[in-house]
Amino acid sequence: MTNRLSDIDIAKASQMKPIKDIGMTLGLDEEQLEFYGKYKAKLSALELEKLQDKADGKLILVTAITPTPAGEGKTTTSVGLADGLHALNERVVLALREPSLGPVFGVKGGAAGGGYAQVVPMEDINLHFTGDFHAIGAAHNLLSAMLDNHIHHGNPLGIDSRRITWKRVVDMNDRQLRYIVDGLNGKVNGVPREDGFDITVASEIMAILCLSNSLADLKDKLSRIIVAYTFDGQPVTAEDLKASGAMAVLLKDAINPNLVQTLEHTPALVHGGPFANIAHGCNSILATKMAMKYADYTVTEAGFGADLGAEKFLDIKCRLGDLKPDAVVLVATVRALKMHGGVDKKELSTENVEAVRQGLPNLEKHLDNLQNVYGLPVVVAINKFPTDTDAELAAVQQACEVRGVEVSLSEVWEKGGQGGIDLAKKVIALAEQPAELQYAYELTDSIEDKIQKIVTKVYGGKGIQLTPQAKREIAELENLGFGQLPVCMAKTQYSFSDDATLLGAPSDFDVTVQQVKVSAGAGFIVVLTGAVMTMPGLPKVPAAEKITISDSGEIDGLF
Ligand code: ADP
Ligand code: MG
Repeated sequence: MTNRLSDIDIAKASQMKPIKDIGMTLGLDEEQLEFYGKYKAKLSALELEKLQDKADGKLILVTAITPTPAGEGKTTTSVGLADGLHALNERVVLALREPSLGPVFGVKGGAAGGGYAQVVPMEDINLHFTGDFHAIGAAHNLLSAMLDNHIHHGNPLGIDSRRITWKRVVDMNDRQLRYIVDGLNGKVNGVPREDGFDITVASEIMAILCLSNSLADLKDKLSRIIVAYTFDGQPVTAEDLKASGAMAVLLKDAINPNLVQTLEHTPALVHGGPFANIAHGCNSILATKMAMKYADYTVTEAGFGADLGAEKFLDIKCRLGDLKPDAVVLVATVRALKMHGGVDKKELSTENVEAVRQGLPNLEKHLDNLQNVYGLPVVVAINKFPTDTDAELAAVQQACEVRGVEVSLSEVWEKGGQGGIDLAKKVIALAEQPAELQYAYELTDSIEDKIQKIVTKVYGGKGIQLTPQAKREIAELENLGFGQLPVCMAKTQYSFSDDATLLGAPSDFDVTVQQVKVSAGAGFIVVLTGAVMTMPGLPKVPAAEKITISDSGEIDGLF
């Protein structure tokens, strides 16, 4: 392999256009853009209402097979596909998530694409960007402060401080803050209690921001957030604490989608970034809807593999936002297929055609779900890595052809949009096909039935086991009137099952539901199938050790 440029070197070498020029290509004048410097701008969420009567463009969802820990290139493929469509002179807008600050300093790897398929300015997008996450953190912590203040001043609502569900947040990987005791040192300094921090992207406010259809909807959702339960078991909401108005004020800019560009000047709305386990893992509904008004093709991504990302995109985001994708791109890689074929993670760059074939059931199960459970047209994008051999790539292509599913070799990481022309053409053709989105479950199903349907239809499992705690929680939530909400599955992304070591397409398994909670503001039931980390830690050697800035302001070491 030749010496390749790093992502930041490629990004630095590119020439960005002023963001007002990018806006102009969408028919936006300077009045409609709120500039954050020369290369970033916000678009008012209120614009969407003015565009009510304008027809929507096509929506393309990019998802993936069950990934390796390194990620299979959904963001990279999304960017490259958008650049491919752009190169074909189509009007296209990317709608992506904003990266979290935490992982940037932890494990190496940003979330703004890679190689020649990136969104820029990548150093800003990966760091503070336009401050949305800080605003979300501030809104979240305002509610925390008002909650403890309420208790300090006599607790008229009767909040049981042992049943507070609202933690504090900070956008940093900081395990030290996972479990804390606060309010110490006597009467004037608050009421002592057990507390803890989550990373900002795990905040329910992030999910709320991303599932809101308007500012009015945002305010409504904020007011429904449950922060604690009273001594007699009644939920206490942000509205009860009279906090939601001020929280909405703190979010007044964060609700507006951010406009940036790709290396090839394709417009990109990068907005919102909820966790993909305890939340739904998609960019904001507002950005997606705006993109669909401005463009003929909107390319968007959902986190993790299709069993989680696409499932939540379709069953939660599309349902709550009244959206429907016109085509789905399923990203597959030779290395992930080899992993599903039983190859050790350290050996994934060695040619092994037989292992690729052995791993294909994973791809086929995801295809089956998208086509038959959800009823959508799919094209497989093989994201080509430098280590892939022709024989390995051919094995994947053949399998798709035998199945009669469209397949395209995507070389966008190496070649940018030119490497995605074939994929773009296939997407255009697919999006013309009639498609009727079906959900995996109905909102009227009981909570247990919803989980059961996802596990049996989408994961391919036998059924579910509920712990006594989960049973109790389901009964309580149905009692409180939350039974009609969609469910948000928190499960390992490394297997269709809840056991990360079951690769391929397992079928002989039950999923154990440990806990069931409600995110009443966001509007979903969170189903925990194992321990979920909502405050990551840093690794032994954090990426931060290598990141620096020169005296003249050049950033170094960022990916
Ligand atoms: P995902 O969105 O699925 O998590 P990303 O697009 O962020 O995946 O890619 C994960 C990592 O893999 C990134 O560091 C990216 O630069 C790298 N990558 C993606 N596609 C390729 C490829 N074809 N060749 C080499 N590296 C790639
Ligand atoms: Mg991604």
